[in-house]
Amino acid sequence: MAKRMGYIGAFLALAAVCSLWFTGCGRSLQSQSASRTELVMSTVATVTLYGERAQEGVDAAFEKAKELEMILSAQNEESELYQVNQTAYERETEVSETLFTVTRRSLQYCRETDGALDCTLGKINALWAFGTENARLPAQEEITPLLVDRGYEQVQLNEETRTIRFLNPNIQLDFGATAKGFAADEMKRVLTEEYGITCGIINLGGNIITIGAKYDGQPWGIGVTDPDDHTRVVSTEYITNATAVTSGNYERYFIQDGVRYHHILDPKTGYSANNGLISTTVLAENSMLADALSTATYVMGLDKAVAYIEAMENVEAIFITEDRTVVKTAGLADDTFEGTA
Ligand code: ADP
Ligand code: MG
Repeated sequence: MAKRMGYIGAFLALAAVCSLWFTGCGRSLQSQSASRTELVMSTVATVTLYGERAQEGVDAAFEKAKELEMILSAQNEESELYQVNQTAYERETEVSETLFTVTRRSLQYCRETDGALDCTLGKINALWAFGTENARLPAQEEITPLLVDRGYEQVQLNEETRTIRFLNPNIQLDFGATAKGFAADEMKRVLTEEYGITCGIINLGGNIITIGAKYDGQPWGIGVTDPDDHTRVVSTEYITNATAVTSGNYERYFIQDGVRYHHILDPKTGYSANNGLISTTVLAENSMLADALSTATYVMGLDKAVAYIEAMENVEAIFITEDRTVVKTAGLADDTFEGTA
């Protein structure tokens, strides 16, 4: 059984770039720390590292993020994914190892979540254009034809030739729900394997991943913020060498005729998911998995989402419902959530 807590929010509609905050490493390591905030992957990213190679590590982490953006962005016309989206219906298209891996894993999460996650919604996402100045409410007649034959089954992958093929013209890949998680994992991998970093925290617009514990061996405190007031934390979780990823209806949205339209779409309707949740935070060891699940559980709605997460090993979640109740999965006792890597 999940735990519920009553919660009354302050009704301040604020759009914020990130929905989690964190506490940093301790003072004695601060002489060897480096931190930078930059716009990358269409979001505000902060990398904070501790130890002798902190500065080098920060530079390398951002380099990695930029490299991945040029592969995985669905919007940037220069990206590999953008090019693949233009040709993969007409012909089998060969792709880089990175794009193949992200596609294979994203489609696997789509299958496992029974289509709540749907990374083939590229054309419908483009109609909405959330996060751009062209964001608008598409007409039903624009959306309906694109709902035909959508879904992960419509993308064919060939491992041997490393090619991608779309089975119908309605399909375009969009990894908005998984790419930041993949990038966070990759940034962490580079930092630990190539720079020997043992202490740090990366925040990719609400995708937070920690490297190890804080210098003093204490876990990192990750605050889940109030969707109505980002200066307020509704719950703090403690994690070591793990990730926390939030999806919310307040990150990219517009209001028209009193209705809030936000960037997490229900794949069945092509309109903003509206199943009773306004914020989902997933804790796991792997950030791409957590990213996929934060979006998928948002679409599922509370009951399905709780059952789904509670059936998984080593994954926990914090949900906020539209009536402002905070619900945590059963494994989130007072202990620290720890990754094993
Ligand atoms: P954020 O980008 O704010 O971290 P998410 O991880 O929840 O949020 O991903 C939302 C993005 O994923 C959207 O901007 C869009 O590109 C894409 N998307 C929207 N709805 C879905 C869905 N049901 N399945 C897969 N991708 C989605
Ligand atoms: Mg996501």
